[in-house]
Amino acid sequence: MSHRIAVLDKDSCHSRKCNLECITFCPVNKTGSDCIVLGQDTKAVISEELCTGCGICVKKCPFEAITILNLATELGDEKVHQYGINTYRLYKLPIPKKNSVVGLVGKNGVGKSTALNILSGSLKPNLGNYETVPSWDEVIDEFQGTELRSHFQAISEGKLRVSIKPQAVYLIPKVWTGTVRALLEKTAGSSRDITEVAESLSLSQSLGTTVSELSGGELQRTAVAVASLKDADLYLFDEPSSYNDVFQRMNVSKTIAELSKKGAVVLVEHDLSFLDYLSDYIHILYGEPGVYGIVSSIQSARTGINELLEGYLQVENVRFRDQPVRFDIYSPIENETETPVICSYDRLLKTYDRFSLEVEPAEIKMGQVVGVLGANALGKTTFFKVLSGVEPPTSGHVEALSKIAYKPQYLSADTDTDVISYFRAINKNVDSGLFQTQLITPLNLNKLFEKQLRNLSGGELQKVAIVGTLLQDAQIFAFDEPSAFIDVEDRIVLAKAIQRFVRSMGKTALVIDHDIQLVDIVADSLMIFSGDPGRKGHASKPLAKNDGMNTFLKELGITYRRDINTGRPRVNKPESKLDRMQKEDRKYYYVGKLQAAAAEAEGSQTKNITA
Ligand code: SF4
Repeated sequence: MSHRIAVLDKDSCHSRKCNLECITFCPVNKTGSDCIVLGQDTKAVISEELCTGCGICVKKCPFEAITILNLATELGDEKVHQYGINTYRLYKLPIPKKNSVVGLVGKNGVGKSTALNILSGSLKPNLGNYETVPSWDEVIDEFQGTELRSHFQAISEGKLRVSIKPQAVYLIPKVWTGTVRALLEKTAGSSRDITEVAESLSLSQSLGTTVSELSGGELQRTAVAVASLKDADLYLFDEPSSYNDVFQRMNVSKTIAELSKKGAVVLVEHDLSFLDYLSDYIHILYGEPGVYGIVSSIQSARTGINELLEGYLQVENVRFRDQPVRFDIYSPIENETETPVICSYDRLLKTYDRFSLEVEPAEIKMGQVVGVLGANALGKTTFFKVLSGVEPPTSGHVEALSKIAYKPQYLSADTDTDVISYFRAINKNVDSGLFQTQLITPLNLNKLFEKQLRNLSGGELQKVAIVGTLLQDAQIFAFDEPSAFIDVEDRIVLAKAIQRFVRSMGKTALVIDHDIQLVDIVADSLMIFSGDPGRKGHASKPLAKNDGMNTFLKELGITYRRDINTGRPRVNKPESKLDRMQKEDRKYYYVGKLQAAAAEAEGSQTKNITA
């Protein structure tokens, strides 16, 4: 048995511009019933009780404004919140656990923010009754016999102390004009040491800086510090890794891990490596963005992330993605000495007043994706600019056989141009089968064609900018942080789409990113940036993935093993047997099968999870 969900995207419903096809063609309306009517706001209103789920209105609506779905009936009893008629709804909730980090992962738009708002007490769950909001007693009764009962009891009595690190850290300078130190002093709880937290987050040098002058990474770590310094029972972190490099992410993860000794932590994160490292448990949020979201049962971090990659939830018996994600264990570059060279350069030097970058001579080959890893402020963006001819090298020469298309790190789109016009201005063949099947359809961009660039979300704009780069008539595509604002599902799709496009078209891509698993999926070889951030950078030539990761992880001081089921890279617990063993062997990455099995055994001992 199933129950019906009818959701209207009000922004897309323009009843004055259509012929009211939904109302005219609905077979229930034709029998004289009011299954779809026009509301006072001139938007369609659909009765979920009368709707038979035929889907005719979905096909007839010229603006693709209607979604009709059937969900299992039993889920209806677990509806936690619905904002109004024909709107998004959330089923089930994540369960915070004292002295543990519970990770929450899933697509953008399926309800992570709604879930966090409910857990924090800032949104009272209405259990689907948006017209008559239930009392707290009714809410508490609804969660009788579950771990969430005492949680809501504490919220209703004002006894739950909650600290939140919001997603939109860029809004902080709009509400705080003072220094970082003043902000931390204002928010710190009585027992918290500002100097210690600032030091652990590499913020000591920024304490005297005005918040509006911070870089994206500093702002993010300031927000983490503010949330960490509060005395709370529940800490909620919404995407704390954004804007930070891998070194800074490690610092953030240590700070959050410390907090879990004091209370419960719920963490929303798209960087799987970071999420895996930090979480004791995982909930996957799945569903249809903007339509509905379901919180999965709680799993150990390893099982949860493996199920996410597999696209299949065993307990729920639900497949939410057609294809599992696979990792290439072997580096194809080792066997491709005959591959044609697409660009070469001798030793490059680029110097500024206070910064210099040296790049080892190298050849970049056709059909390959080169991953670029390193801390912030080591000259990665400078290298892209030199390679693309935006800036000349101080010494050395770039032999590029063709044009380079570059997607910058920071995107702005303050224009009324819609997405499809933007694409057509770059490449009039965007409607061809090739671009459709390789880029537009996998990244689900058809739905955005009529939207103006200025109205896109951060993740939508990022996907549009990436495809806009790939549509250019170029041989080399350079992407600076393509994962920013993109959810975990789209990161995987994106990595595969870039790789497939580059290989099939005989092009080359360079991808700078701090998400190690994304780089692992997308890259055939790796360039490693090292040095003294802000002063001096050094770029290696493209190395085989194994060698590149070893070089990079050695500098980080962490080791990775491969998950025995999925082959995905997993961070070893510091000072664990395997961590020590791999460091002694100088194998920071890509271990053999036996070592991987030993690691899994050890992982299960060290985390001791019984979810
Ligand atoms: Fe009518 Fe429901 Fe069919 Fe849409 S899906 S046409 S609302 S019966």
